[in-house]
Amino acid sequence: MSLDATAVAAWLADFAGQIHEHEALLTDLDREIGDGDHGSNMDRGMKAVMALDVASFPTVADYLKKAGMTLVSTVGGASGPLYGTFFLRLGVTWGEPQNALDVGKALRAGVDGIVARGKAEVGDKTMIDALVPALAAYDEHAGEGVAPALAAAAEACAAGRDATIPLVAHKGRASYLGERSAGHQDPGATSATMLIEAAARTLS
Ligand code: ADP
Ligand code: MG
Repeated sequence: MSLDATAVAAWLADFAGQIHEHEALLTDLDREIGDGDHGSNMDRGMKAVMALDVASFPTVADYLKKAGMTLVSTVGGASGPLYGTFFLRLGVTWGEPQNALDVGKALRAGVDGIVARGKAEVGDKTMIDALVPALAAYDEHAGEGVAPALAAAAEACAAGRDATIPLVAHKGRASYLGERSAGHQDPGATSATMLIEAAARTLS
């Protein structure tokens, strides 16, 4: 099982790479139903996270918490505090995970943090629409191990992302558009899927 500092740093590096590669997509999606800054916000934040050296932290938990604080202070907008809270709570719960159940608990703590902060529910057309089904799929497959559970989570996350398209937004900037927000994929659900897909590629 590979859930050590190197694996966690590889997860964040993979996520940072996806954000950078798809910065224009994320910005275009946010231009349709927001203010067109999600790609640039996230890219700036993940570049700052990439400047952290995992080896300089006493524990993986400290690294994750610092990554969260870095996102809070560099991303801005709605998504900065939300992704920041995810990594802060993930760090608090991470410890030294021994199995898929431990990883699931940490991921759930992270997503619970996003919900506590943003108060979004499934169906509000936010990143929560991707992350909540991802966690459910993870739990369903946790008995098979970290890699199969994360693979199932990534698939469910992508399905949740796609399911945001017809929804009317009830949270965040997109909600200002009312009915006109329908027919567009939520940018935060799109970046959140990159996060979980990156986990599936790097943690096992
Ligand atoms: P801003 O809307 O402030 O410009 P971003 O463009 O970086 O911030 O992020 C927008 C994304 O944040 C949305 O696509 C949505 O997924 C997510 N989001 C916004 N508000 C909330 C909320 N209250 N709870 C969860 N996610 C939210
Ligand atoms: Mg925006």
